[in-house]
Amino acid sequence: MKPFFKSQALRFECTRCGRCCVAGNGYHVYLGRDEVARIRDYLGLSTGWFRRRYLYRTEAGDLVAACQEDGRCVFLGEDDRCRVYPVRPVQCRTYPFWPEVVHSRAAWQRESRRCEGMDRGSPIPVAVIRARLDECNTLAE
Ligand code: SF4
Ligand code: SF4
Repeated sequence: MKPFFKSQALRFECTRCGRCCVAGNGYHVYLGRDEVARIRDYLGLSTGWFRRRYLYRTEAGDLVAACQEDGRCVFLGEDDRCRVYPVRPVQCRTYPFWPEVVHSRAAWQRESRRCEGMDRGSPIPVAVIRARLDECNTLAE
């Protein structure tokens, strides 16, 4: 049987509402070492200051972006725009085309309650979705 994202055209158009940049239900923005370095350099900060101010280590030992008191990602500006957009993490660049979201209709519909851009706009070509999934998979390697 074809995977869900191949059997049905998935539409997506980001409205820049910023909801995916707000934590909840254990949601974190995971950061690889290269991503940490890229974002730190982009902001022009020292390693120590950047780690203290912007990063957080979960109980499981994963490095993630810290949250502001209201749950907003530490990189989300007051104008609801990402302050590190050109170097944002793979997790953010590939959203909502994550393996756990596109594998079934139920998962896609569940996620669409958080993201108003899903089921909006034009269908996204399967090749584009495939490329995003491949990027996500590099994180798991
Ligand atoms: S890094 Fe940027 S795009 Fe990713 S969650 Fe934070 S503010 Fe949003
Ligand atoms: S929740 Fe969806 S529509 Fe809103 S900013 Fe994130 S990707 Fe865009």
